[in-house]
Amino acid sequence: MSYNIAVDGPAGAGKSTIARAVAKKLQIIYVDTGAMYRAMALFMLRQGVNPADGTAVSEKCRDADITIAYEGEEQVVYLNGENVNPYLRTEEVGNMASSVSVQPAVREKLVELQRVLAAKEDCIMDGRDIGTCVLPDAQVKIYLTASSEVRAKRRYDELAAKGQECDLEKIKADIEDRDDRDMHREHSPLRQAADAVLVDSSDMTVDEVINRILELCRR
Ligand code: C5P
Repeated sequence: MSYNIAVDGPAGAGKSTIARAVAKKLQIIYVDTGAMYRAMALFMLRQGVNPADGTAVSEKCRDADITIAYEGEEQVVYLNGENVNPYLRTEEVGNMASSVSVQPAVREKLVELQRVLAAKEDCIMDGRDIGTCVLPDAQVKIYLTASSEVRAKRRYDELAAKGQECDLEKIKADIEDRDDRDMHREHSPLRQAADAVLVDSSDMTVDEVINRILELCRR
């Protein structure tokens, strides 16, 4: 049986930074499920599908073949054979991902891919529904969160460091909108699994969060 760590939490809580570091420490793979939803979102954007049209999204998602591979430690997402990693991390794709991920057809397809991967490999997987739905038997479950102010500020600093112009209030409003959609959708909403450990990173450094998770894994 493979060893699985599930990390869930809202946008900007630091899940990917933390999961990537823990994966490296433990020599296991990091599975970024958000990137799979983002690849699906990119497909819908390119196809001009209206995210509010549930029937169109469900039908179109059958034409999106999403697979993942590893180049060193890096997860590469392929959309119909194309490496789409360079296009996934924009606000436009993130917001579209949050809209299309409400559709059960999209979720079923990606959850299946995630389960197959986790059954084969020791991994730390992050997302919104990993502990509650994708890997209910994961050996360690973490719910990683932080206040929306802190999450918006982190995102702002990240964009500013890349030289992108951004507005803190707008980022905070987008984060709150996304949380609201992710937490209140009908299928697999974001919530803390009953057996997940809550880690609030608002006043913690990255290293403190990593050490906390490694300590939970050792138990
Ligand atoms: O984590 P990330 O910001 O990359 O995720 C983009 C969107 O994909 C989220 O806002 C969420 O709506 C969706 N998602 C999901 N379930 C997951 C991972 C991501 O619904 N396991």
